[in-house]
Amino acid sequence: MKTKTTDCMFLLNCQSCDDVVKLVDKPRLCECGKSAGAHYANGTYVSSGPARVLSITWEAYDGITEGESRPFTVLPRVQTRRQP
Ligand SMILES: [Zn+2]
Repeated sequence: MKTKTTDCMFLLNCQSCDDVVKLVDKPRLCECGKSAGAHYANGTYVSSGPARVLSITWEAYDGITEGESRPFTVLPRVQTRRQP
């Protein structure tokens, strides 16, 4: 289910297994388990492992139609203090 507590959807993209996971307010792992991340209701996010965090605004995501292209942003790395 989609929750829109923030302006953007954040996606964790593990560069080891190429999995993509939507970040939520508790830690989630990629398929291989090397990357993890979370995206909190206050807009902050964390990640660990060989991961990129991508963001796309809900406005761009919800407004898209088939065959259309929309931009996403690769966010700066924010590491967790310890592995979740
Ligand atoms: Zn992985």
